[in-house]
Amino acid sequence: MSQIEQTSLLVIGGGPGGYVAAIRAGQLGIPTVLIEREQLGGTCLNIGCIPSKALIHVAEEFDKTVQYAEASPLGIRVRAPEIDIERTVAWKDGIVQKLTRGVGALLKKHGVKVVQGEARVIDGKTVEVTLSGQGQGAGEAQRVRLHCEHLLLAAGSEPTALPSMPFGGKVVSSTEALSPKTLPKRLVVVGAGYIGLELGTVYRKLGVEVTVVEALDRVLPAYDAELVKPVADALVRKGVSVLLGHKVLGLSADGNAVRVQERDGKEHALPADQVLVAVGRRPRTQGWGLEQLQLDRNGAALRIDDQCRTSMRGVWAIGDLAGEPMLAHRAMAQGEVVAELIAGKTRRFVPAAIPAVCFTDPEIVTAGMSPAEALAADVDCVSASFPFAANGRAMTLEATDGFVRVVARRDNHLIVGWQAVGRGVSELAAAFSQSLEMGARLEDIGATIHAHPTLGEAVQEAALRALGHAVHI
Ligand code: FAD
Ligand code: NAD
Repeated sequence: MSQIEQTSLLVIGGGPGGYVAAIRAGQLGIPTVLIEREQLGGTCLNIGCIPSKALIHVAEEFDKTVQYAEASPLGIRVRAPEIDIERTVAWKDGIVQKLTRGVGALLKKHGVKVVQGEARVIDGKTVEVTLSGQGQGAGEAQRVRLHCEHLLLAAGSEPTALPSMPFGGKVVSSTEALSPKTLPKRLVVVGAGYIGLELGTVYRKLGVEVTVVEALDRVLPAYDAELVKPVADALVRKGVSVLLGHKVLGLSADGNAVRVQERDGKEHALPADQVLVAVGRRPRTQGWGLEQLQLDRNGAALRIDDQCRTSMRGVWAIGDLAGEPMLAHRAMAQGEVVAELIAGKTRRFVPAAIPAVCFTDPEIVTAGMSPAEALAADVDCVSASFPFAANGRAMTLEATDGFVRVVARRDNHLIVGWQAVGRGVSELAAAFSQSLEMGARLEDIGATIHAHPTLGEAVQEAALRALGHAVHI
C-alpha cells in the first residue's frame, strides 16, 4: 500500500447512480472521491441505454428507407439501401465518447476526484483500490487504501448467463450485440424482455433473420397483455419469429444451432450464426467485499431502506446493485437522495411513480399502476383508453397503432397510473410522471389545454373519456 487518503464520501461506480450522486455531493460541498474501474458513465452510457437507442435510431432510419425502396404511399422513391455497420458502430461510439467525456468534465467542475481502478470493500469505512494501468511489468499492480465517513455503493449489474449456454464464441450478451463487427445472417435471441426485443428489432430491421425464444407465454411478460399486443403484432409483421413457452437446452454438438424444447417435450434446433442471451441482469454483489451486507428478500440485490441505507451504518447503495427496477433514471434519483441526506437535508426515495419505457416499435411507456395492479392493491379504479387511430397527428405520422390509458381512483378521480403504446410515446413519460407526482385528478388533465395536433391530445382525451365525455370518440 503506497498511499492512504481520507474523504467524506467515497462512491464506488461511475454509472448514472454513482456519477449523479458524486456531482450532487460536489455541488453541496461534500469532499467526494469516485472510483471507477472501466469508463465513466457505467452500463447506461457505454453499453446500455445510449448505445442501444443509437442503434434503434439507425435501424428505424434504415427500415424506413427499405420500405420507401419497396413502395411508399408517401410518394417517396429511393433505391434499396445498404448498411455500413462499421460506420454505424463508429457513429454510436462517438456519441458514447461525447457523453462519457462530459461526465468526466462535470465531475471535475464539481470538485469530485476520480480514481481509476477496481475497488474492494474492506469495511464500512475502508476501501482498497487496485489502480488501473499501474504496476504493469513490475509484477504487482499498485494498490491504495481510501478511508471515508460515507461509502456509497453504485456498482451496478451484469448480464445473467444461461448455465446451459454460457457466454463465449457466438453466444453473446447485449454488450457485444451493441458493437457488431459484421451482421450475422441468423440471430437467435433468448429472452423476450427489454433487451431481447429492443435489440432483436434492431437486428431484424437491419435485415437479419431473427428468432426470439421466450420461456413464458408472451413477450414482455412484465407488461399487461393489452399494452404488449401492438408490439407482438408488429414483430410478426416485421418477420421476427417468436417461440413462446420454450426452454433453451444449449448449443447443438456442431455449435451451429440452438436446441430448444417445447412444453410437451418436443425438441427443435434453431440454426444460429449468433445467439444473444438477454434473460435479465444480476446485481454485482459477489466477490468484492459486500458479503458483510444483507441482501433483499430474493437474495439477489443489496437490501436498502427508503433512504438507500444498507444494513451497515454509513454504507449506502443505489441503482442496479439495489435491485429492480434496473433503470438509469431510478439510479440517478437515488444518487441525488443520498448526496442530499449526507449533506443534512431531509429526503426519502418514495417516488409516486418510476416511469418505464420499452423502446420497441411501437414503444411502451408506463408510470404508476395498471388496472390489474390497482385491482390487486384493492384500489377501486376507473380506467379509460384513447386510441391513436382517432388522433389526427398520429394519422399524419402513420402512427395510428396503440393507445393511451389512464387509471384513476373511482371515488376522488386521483390518477394512479398511465400506460401508452405507440410510436414515440416514450416522450409522454414526463407528462405521466408529473401528473402522478403532483397528485393530478382526471379533471386536471381533462381541463388542461393540449396543443393540436399532437400525440399528447390522447392523454387529455383518455382523462376525458374516464370522466365520460371524450370529445373525439
Ligand atoms: P451501472 O451503470 O452498471 O454502473 C456501475 C459502474 O460501477 C460501472 O461503470 C462499473 O464499471 C463500476 N464498477 C463495478 N464494480 C466496481 C468496482 N469493484 N470498482 C470500481 N468500479 C466498479 N435503463 C433505462 O432507464 N433506460 C434504458 O433505455 C436502458 N437501456 C438499457 C439497455 C441495455 C442494453 C442495458 C444493458 C441496460 C439498459 N438500461 C436502461 C439499464 C441501465 O443501464 C441501468 O439501470 C443503469 O446503468 C444502472 O446504473 P448504476 O449506476 O446502478 O450501474
Ligand atoms: P428482462 O427481465 O427485461 O427480460 C428477460 C426475459 O427473459 C423475460 O421475458 C424472461 O421471462 C425471459 N427468460 C428468463 N430466463 C429465460 C430462459 N432460460 N429462456 C428463455 N427466456 C428466459 O431482462 P433483459 O431484457 O435482459 O434486461 C435486463 C434489465 O436491463 C431489465 O430488467 C431492465 O431493467 C434493463 N433494461 C432497460 C431498458 C429500458 O429501460 N428501455 C432496456 C434494456 C434493459
